[in-house]
Amino acid sequence: MLKTISIIDAKNHIGEEVKIGVWLTNKRSSGKIAFLQLRDGTAFFQGVVVKNNVSEEVFALAKEVKQEESLYVTGTIHEDARSPFGYEIELSGIEKVGESENYPISPKKHGVDFLMDHRHLWLRSKRQFAVMKIRNEVIRATYEFYNKEGFIKIDAPILTGSAPEGTTELFHTKYFDKDAYLSQSGQLYEEAGAMAYGKVFSFGPTFRAEKSKTRRHLIEFWMVEPEMAFMHQEESLEIQEQYIAFLVQSVIDNCEYELGILERDVDVLKRYTELPFPRISYDEAVELLQKSGEFPDAEWGDDFGSPEETYLAEHFSKPVFVLNYPKAIKPFYMKPHPTRDDVVISADLLAPEGYGEIIGGSERATDPEFLEAQIEKAGLNKDDYQWYLDLRRYGSVPHSGFGLGLERAITWITGEEHIRESIPFPRLLNRIYP
Ligand code: ATP
Ligand code: MG
Ligand code: MG
Ligand code: MG
Repeated sequence: MLKTISIIDAKNHIGEEVKIGVWLTNKRSSGKIAFLQLRDGTAFFQGVVVKNNVSEEVFALAKEVKQEESLYVTGTIHEDARSPFGYEIELSGIEKVGESENYPISPKKHGVDFLMDHRHLWLRSKRQFAVMKIRNEVIRATYEFYNKEGFIKIDAPILTGSAPEGTTELFHTKYFDKDAYLSQSGQLYEEAGAMAYGKVFSFGPTFRAEKSKTRRHLIEFWMVEPEMAFMHQEESLEIQEQYIAFLVQSVIDNCEYELGILERDVDVLKRYTELPFPRISYDEAVELLQKSGEFPDAEWGDDFGSPEETYLAEHFSKPVFVLNYPKAIKPFYMKPHPTRDDVVISADLLAPEGYGEIIGGSERATDPEFLEAQIEKAGLNKDDYQWYLDLRRYGSVPHSGFGLGLERAITWITGEEHIRESIPFPRLLNRIYP
């Protein structure tokens, strides 16, 4: 019996005759030879069928097989320097497994809406293959990084009974006869985790009913949220930059083929592994924007939008930390600055090349009375936060944490235009199908 292999393992079977389960992505043929573009989910490569070397039936099948039909192919693996994958297979046999009539996606270009309507099929494309493999690597490297740093994963609930940052961006649902919301962040729960286990992180889906259409915002996205007890901001920034450099380096090391498909410049990515990342204060950021001449309306107190964030990170050609934002534009739980009452101890990490904020974080307020006043000021229901105040009532410690938007980071690392490409089934303002 022939050995069944995956395309990715072809390099270990040069000169051998093997069997592979594949789909046909494209083909071209002349009178004497047919070239079949094949994929099996592990890689893409070419099958060559030479008329004189195979039976008439096999050559006829090679000429009539249709896009996205599934096949078992048998043949011999050859090295092929011209193919991006480095190998091809000279076919001796083809067996059809599943038919495919008039596949709706052709190798020519389609519009965005069409591709989004056919997302379930578009995932098979080479570009999406590359992005999803890199997504998988970023997730794998995230677990590796936090494990090696001694964090444990504490899962935050997705259904929550209260709204930590106001209700405007929350999805409301019923919880039997009570009200509930889909989580927009696991942070408050991670703080409980940090007080219990020191260094923790959550990784799960979060939801924001944001009525904005940008190339950086999804309605449903995944967040990595570490939280660390006995930690001030500076140490937290070091963990953040080490984490980012580790993600980028892991993708460089383990996704060479996929970065090649996306034509992502690896030298640019390498620059993002050089630490430390620059740190500037929010005050300095506003000054930079004002001096640039491009932002005549920039004023102290504003939150930055996409053009401002793009300018700031581009200015350094590296991810840049912007520290200590105005209190008024940040959530209630951030630690007040020790000597200024207009800013909090926070940091956003802005990515270059126009990708904006990939991490938002802060040191957390430690004093229960201060927090209780903050909760009241924010118009939140005090009863909902008694458990959170308990974290300060029983052994409060300096602690810090941050949230990384998984798809933001992936979109930046892959160099894709739009965040919708970085999640298998994007949820967008006007889209919940498929
Ligand atoms: P932005 O300013 O870009 O709207 P934010 O400040 O509202 O982001 P945070 O609440 O700080 O976001 O969330 C932490 C991280 O989650 C952000 O740094 C970003 O990477 C990611 N993120 C936030 N909102 C979205 C979204 N709608 N879609 C995808 N990722 C998001
Ligand atoms: Mg936002
Ligand atoms: Mg922001
Ligand atoms: Mg933020």
